[in-house]
Amino acid sequence: MASSACADVGVRLEYGNPSDAADKAVREELIASDVMNTGVSFINNHFKLAEPLVVAFGGDDGPLFDGESGSIMIPYAFVDEVRHRFKQANYDKTGVTPKQATDDALLHTLFHEFAHALIDMYQLPVLGKEEDAADALATTLLVEFFDDGQEIALSAADLFDIESDDREVLEDEDFWDEHSLDDQRYFTTLCHVYGSAPDKYATIVKEGLLGEERAELCIEEYAAISRSWLSILEPYIKANATEKLSQ
Ligand SMILES: [Zn+2]
Repeated sequence: MASSACADVGVRLEYGNPSDAADKAVREELIASDVMNTGVSFINNHFKLAEPLVVAFGGDDGPLFDGESGSIMIPYAFVDEVRHRFKQANYDKTGVTPKQATDDALLHTLFHEFAHALIDMYQLPVLGKEEDAADALATTLLVEFFDDGQEIALSAADLFDIESDDREVLEDEDFWDEHSLDDQRYFTTLCHVYGSAPDKYATIVKEGLLGEERAELCIEEYAAISRSWLSILEPYIKANATEKLSQ
């Protein structure tokens, strides 16, 4: 057969026009940090896509995946807000700069939205909450394919933890939201990171961030979610694309 049209299908990155000075600054920093290029190149090198996908910065809505336009939309203001949260939380004291943590959280966000895109594109079965499945894919891709993937996932987890401090009282709307509670997303991501490397992350249990009994289950839980995602995605993963990436 002659060259297939599919060969060129991939993800494209678009930095939309900034609407104000703050957006403009974010746009310049994103371009300089190159983190989104890392994420998009990773997807293009590792996945076969049935339909083109655009990662579009700018606009007011998101982060979200829009099936109609085939795009992952991320507002510049979201990036600004994430960095602001890490700064406010004095994230520097963890040894990770707010800038680095923001890049980490963005990579997790990209892979979370990519999960929604894959589910839509290939009509993948979703057994349970799609939002939880999307978080699980983000953690799995980071852990399995990036050298410092666990550290990247931990920054993203910490963002959920910081966000959870916004609400002192939980209302019905927090429970009917399609996402799990921020605290749950924090502990689940922590659980999966621990489960992926219990010896390396023994301090998570020693410091009491996760209870011992829960942590024990995290080992099997991470094995199950990573195995499930990677086997369901196997037909769409490019051959010889299993090597780990160095950031
Ligand atoms: Zn989502």
